[in-house]
Amino acid sequence: MKFKKDLYKLDSDNNFYKASEIVNEYKKANPNSNVISLGIGDVYFPISKYVAKEMNAAIKKQTTPDFIGYGNYFGIQELRKAIRDNEYKDFDIEEIYVSDGTKSDCGNILELLENDALIGIPSITYPIYKNTCFSLGRKFEIIKSDDNFIPLIPKKHFDCIILCSPNNPTGINYSKEVLKKWIDYAKKEDCLIIYDNVYFSFINDGVKSIYEIDGAKEVAIELRSFSKHVSFTGIRCSYFVIPNQLHKDINIYWRLRTVNRFNGASYIAQVGALASFNDKVKKEIDKNIKYYKDNASILKTSFIDLGYEVFGGNDAPYLWVKCKDGYNSFDMAMYFLNTYEIVIVPGSIFGKDGDNYFRISALGRREDILKAIERIRKHESKAN
Ligand code: PLP
Repeated sequence: MKFKKDLYKLDSDNNFYKASEIVNEYKKANPNSNVISLGIGDVYFPISKYVAKEMNAAIKKQTTPDFIGYGNYFGIQELRKAIRDNEYKDFDIEEIYVSDGTKSDCGNILELLENDALIGIPSITYPIYKNTCFSLGRKFEIIKSDDNFIPLIPKKHFDCIILCSPNNPTGINYSKEVLKKWIDYAKKEDCLIIYDNVYFSFINDGVKSIYEIDGAKEVAIELRSFSKHVSFTGIRCSYFVIPNQLHKDINIYWRLRTVNRFNGASYIAQVGALASFNDKVKKEIDKNIKYYKDNASILKTSFIDLGYEVFGGNDAPYLWVKCKDGYNSFDMAMYFLNTYEIVIVPGSIFGKDGDNYFRISALGRREDILKAIERIRKHESKAN
């Protein structure tokens, strides 16, 4: 059997699964432990009751002869329209696609490119881009970042660049100036930008969408998800924009690809996603986002107080923290687990250059965050 050798290159010792296995082993060995996770990328708030009600009605509809089956390859029209009206007023509904998660979308979009296309992936970023390239056998190279974790414009040609902003794990939202340089590069090199923007709802005053920058429609596909702000991590619904200006036939290609490779996102999930644009739900979402942002600000101030160098946390629910005392990131994570019973995410999971850092998340419960900080403080003051 001719199994793909590149699958073996997926780093089994340096990923989220391995990190969570270590925590599970610790809990098994210490049954009375009280572990707090600052590592999670999952959300604390449940889905809105109104959204759930609409989804229930959608399930009921499935029990009648009016049930919705195959056919919504690109998303139900009402949802595509709501996305356009709320977030992408400059676009045509037909340029907007609904899907089942940005984790799959960021790999699926690569099907627009020839197999020998060279893909550029920044040195510290969401690890799925690299691992997807491995799994699909796509050609990729890592792009170095500067001291502020901004990927440097390459001196060579790439056919595609995957940018993530606000960034997971650094929590940094790229500025207008940074994005302009990338768009100029992409235009000069005839290079596609895949812009993973799943944390857009956490942005304060900065660039909320790459399409705010002149020329972006000619080079960029922007990806968003309902996972974080609508708490759809377990429901699965995402969306993206393929501007007609990228190429005269680009949306024809994508539709042809999609009717042959995808039967559409779950109807029930899409009805829920549509309900999230209800005015009352939007207010609830704003409140939840504020809660997470307040978490981030408490974490940031506290870790700085504790003597850590902290990045991000302003425009994203993640803080990127420099390891102390010469620890590398896995050793630091072990130290946090064994000393404080706190889970953090080792930075090396996001790329070799992340090995002196760790990621903490503000998406958790306030009480847990306060308890975690108190624990570290108590321990540090005893140690001194
Ligand atoms: N993109 C980034 C940058 C993420 O951090 C995540 C999840 O943590 C995803 C995509 C996954 O999104 P989805 O739940 O829509 O698959």
